[in-house]
Parts: sequence; structure tokens; C-alpha cells
Amino acid sequence: MRDVEYMETALMLARQAKGQTSPNPLVGAVVVKDGRIVGMGAHLRAGEPHAEVHAIRMAGEKTVGSTVYVTLEPCSHHGRTPPCADLLIESKVKRVVIAVKDPNPLVAGSGINRLKDAGITVEIGVLQDEARQLNKHFFHYVQTKTPFVTLKVAASLDGKTATSTGESKWITGSEAREDVHHSRAEHDAILVGVNTILKDDPSLTCRLEGARRQPIRLILDTHLRTPVSARVVNDQCAPTWIITGNQVDGDRVELFHERGVKVITLPSETIKIDDLLTKLGLENITSLYVEGGSTVHDSFVNEKAFNEIITYFAPKLIGGKDTPAMIGGKGFLNMEDVLSLTISEIKQIGSDVKIVATPVKG
Ligand code: NDP
Ligand code: ZN
Repeated sequence: MRDVEYMETALMLARQAKGQTSPNPLVGAVVVKDGRIVGMGAHLRAGEPHAEVHAIRMAGEKTVGSTVYVTLEPCSHHGRTPPCADLLIESKVKRVVIAVKDPNPLVAGSGINRLKDAGITVEIGVLQDEARQLNKHFFHYVQTKTPFVTLKVAASLDGKTATSTGESKWITGSEAREDVHHSRAEHDAILVGVNTILKDDPSLTCRLEGARRQPIRLILDTHLRTPVSARVVNDQCAPTWIITGNQVDGDRVELFHERGVKVITLPSETIKIDDLLTKLGLENITSLYVEGGSTVHDSFVNEKAFNEIITYFAPKLIGGKDTPAMIGGKGFLNMEDVLSLTISEIKQIGSDVKIVATPVKG
């Protein structure tokens, strides 16, 4: 019973560093000796000490004979920091309780084995689902080498994303829009289609007080139609990368490079979502927040290339058979082909409703 409580504390510690550890996972650790917490720690930033190191340092001599709770299997390899499994052994810890094994199949279990070989009692699986959920971006990235993709839509109750004249500001209320800023902060990159840049000239930054890190702004733009004067090209508020096909004018690319914007040319004439995700994985992008518009959403939905869709429904009716809907394109033709989802969260935010859903695997 107490194992669950201590693991909850470790998960709570891990959660505090949300949005600041990528490409590393969120990890929390708690050291308990004689029924008292004597050390706590969280991994705060890639390159900085792991959660176990902070917790063990805090506990000092009291680690001897203690139990350590850690939300992810302790590492056993020499990375930027020495292996935590060795530290736990040297610190004469008696028992280690782990929420979830390392997601990397090549190293999973090696930290656990090292601890067991040293005579430490190891228990695995306490609050496993919560621990996996907390690091869902990291787990997906490690296992697939491509980013976890979240689609985001803001729509009226009848599923419309703009009026017939193209107005879309604002469908949802300020609370929902603030929630979007939190989601932006939790992803490595934000993505929109070039039409959204042309129509709205958005800044696509995370406008939260004390935002620690701005996600990279990505634009899908086959022929480099993004205006050189666009806000995302000039404001220097966050990195901007434009993704193009292989038929772009080199001189025009240079104009963007001069402004510090990276232009990534994919191998084919049009942008294939698969190629895009592979490339982003190589660039260490572990999570991607796709904000639209409906043409871009259609591509991701059609290729079933997303892991989660977050929809904010506003209590408004826009109507009109030709007004933009959440997802463009032609849609699926037969009921047997439509994409089935499982709803994982429904929440009222201000006067809007947020629904989080994931594709049913089949
Ligand atoms: P998009 O913003 O989705 O941009 C689509 C364009 O992106 C395509 O026409 C294409 O242009 C380029 N593109 C390149 N590669 C791809 C690919 N693989 N898949 C899809 N697109 C690709 O355009 P929409 O017109 O659908 O949406 C824009 C409107 O949506 C705006 O009015 C905006 O206000 C609204 N919007 C609403 C949101 C909401 O949540 N309510 C959110 C975001 C936008 P090219 O061929 O030149 O490369
Ligand atoms: Zn470690």
C-alpha cells in the first residue's frame, strides 16, 4: 500500500519538470528509510543529473538499507552521466521499486538485472500505467524513432473551424486557448500548413508566463510559398523550420537561411507524412503538435499518422455546408474504413469542452 503512495510522490516530482527534459524522459525518485522520506529528486533537464542522483545525494548516509522508488528503470549505461544502477548499488540500497521498465528494447531489463545481481530486491510495475502515460512521448519516440503526434482542433459544436469568410478568431474561449499553450509547451515542435501562415500570419509561440522553452515552429510548404515577411520568419521568438518538396528555388531558400530559418527539403516532389516523421525523428523531435488547418489534418488522418487528437468544442454553431470542417479532403468513403477512436478524456474548460481521443489500433 505504502509502495503506491511513495510512487505517487515520485511521479508527482517527475511531473514538475514537464516540458523541460526532452529528449530525455520525466523521472522522479524518492528514498525511504524506516518509514520516512529521506531523499527526493527529479530529472530536470537533459545533460543534468538523473532523478536518482538528486534523491541519493539528499539522503546522504541514510541510503544504507533504504528503499528507493523510481518512476523509470534506472539506467545501466554510461551516457552523459554515470549509470544510476551503479550508484544505487554503491549507496547500499536494500530495495528498489520501479514503475516501468526502460522502453528501449536493447536496454530494457539491464538496469534491473544489475541491481538484482548485486543482491538488491527489485519490484517492477507499481503505477506502471501512470508512469507510461507520463512519458508517452518518450516511449513512442524510443520505440519508433519518430515523434509522438498530437492533432489539435478548435471547432464549433457543429465541427466547423471557420466561417464562410474565413474568420476563425476566436471560436473557443480564453481558457481553452490557454490550455493550448500548455500543450504547446509540452511538445518539441508545432506544425501548420502554409495556408494557415498565408491566411492568419500566426506567431505560434507559447505565451505562458515563464515558458521555459519555445517549441520549434514547422510549416508544411511544398513550394516555399511562405512570405519572407511572415511573422514566424522574422520575430526570432522561436526556431522556425520550413519543410518543402524537392522542387524549390535555391535563391529563395537562401532568403530564409539569411533570416535564420531552416529549410528542410524532403526527397520527393510532394511532402509525404512518413518521410516527414522519419526526418523529424532524426532531428531529435520526440513530439509534434499539429495545429492544422484542415488540409494538414486530413493528411495525418488519412495516413493514420497520429497518436492522439485533442478537440476543443465551443458552444457555438457556425453552419454552412461549404464552411471549413475539422478535417478536409474527401474523407473516408465507407463506414468500414472510417477511423475509430477511443475517448480518453472529456473535460469542460471554461465554456468549451475538451475531448482527447486515441486511434483504435487495428
Ligand atoms: P492548411 O493550413 O492545412 O495548409 C494546407 C497546405 O499545406 C496545402 O495546401 C499545401 O500547400 C501544404 N502542404 C504541404 N504538404 C502537405 C501535406 N502533406 N498535407 C497537407 N498539406 C500540405 O490549409 P487549410 O486551407 O486547410 O486551412 C487554413 C485555414 O484553417 C485558415 O483559415 C486557418 O485560419 C484555419 N485554421 C483553423 C484552426 C482551428 O483550429 N480552428 C487551426 C489552424 C488553421 P502547398 O501545396 O503549397 O505545399
Ligand atoms: Zn540514470
